[in-house]
Amino acid sequence: MAPEYDFDEEERGKKGEPGVGANARFKEFDCPSCNANNPNDEGFGDGDELLCNYCGQEYKAKVTEEGRLKLKEI
Ligand SMILES: [Zn+2]
Repeated sequence: MAPEYDFDEEERGKKGEPGVGANARFKEFDCPSCNANNPNDEGFGDGDELLCNYCGQEYKAKVTEEGRLKLKEI
């Protein structure tokens, strides 16, 4: 029974539905450095580079398979 769960996750990803798993897109992020909220009208997702408009720190966006956003300083 358990392996079917992983299979379902994979199938959903292949359909390219927005906002699902690692394909999730985000419209804003909170800067880990200065805690400022940065809206991003174009939207961003896994692999995109982000710039904090307040402190100038650059980040690389990483989206996990669970659809959670992680930021890594560049
Ligand atoms: Zn910042």
